[in-house]
Amino acid sequence: MNVILLGPPGSGKGTQGAILARRLKVPKIDMGELLSDAVRRSTEAGRQAKEYMDGGSPVPDEIILRLVEEQLASADAAQGVILDGFPRSIRQAEAVDRMLAVDGMGARVVLLFDVPEEELVHRLLAKASAEHRSDESPETIRRRLDAYRMSTAPLVGYYRELGVLTIVSGTGTEDEVAEEVERAVGE
Ligand code: AMP
Repeated sequence: MNVILLGPPGSGKGTQGAILARRLKVPKIDMGELLSDAVRRSTEAGRQAKEYMDGGSPVPDEIILRLVEEQLASADAAQGVILDGFPRSIRQAEAVDRMLAVDGMGARVVLLFDVPEEELVHRLLAKASAEHRSDESPETIRRRLDAYRMSTAPLVGYYRELGVLTIVSGTGTEDEVAEEVERAVGE
């Protein structure tokens, strides 16, 4: 079973992805973490990705796809994967579909975590305050949410057309959302 997580910052997809990964016993691939790790270890991909990440712009597909391919080829991923932060563009989505088909890894479920904007702003401000970060304001958060929507909207359309998109309401308690995820994944 392969699961692709889509959702804005603050929607809880990282937390729910970790719960699901434990339950299904498959690895969760977090693209942001994978990239930061490559930068820290100064691998070739990390050195190439660094300048883009420092500038806050998307890392080129060629680097991203190489990293994903490596992960999917690992023995851990034989029973499936949970993808978080990837794909972020139609091109990446098409590439992952090809990779899964070639590897015979089969179907994927795409979950879109839906949380109203006001609630996201509230959660992200609370998180920044708990972490003693003063860099977040309602305006910077709204800008990040706008950027997310711009980049993800085409993906939502892509998966909806393929009939594999399930919308999960991300506003309940952690357990309630986890139950909804379980129903959507059907395993
Ligand atoms: P995140 O931790 O998800 O916010 O990602 C941090 C940074 O990694 C982003 O600002 C991008 O530069 C890069 N990145 C993460 N995922 C992707 C992706 N799927 N495609 C391109 N760049 C990505």
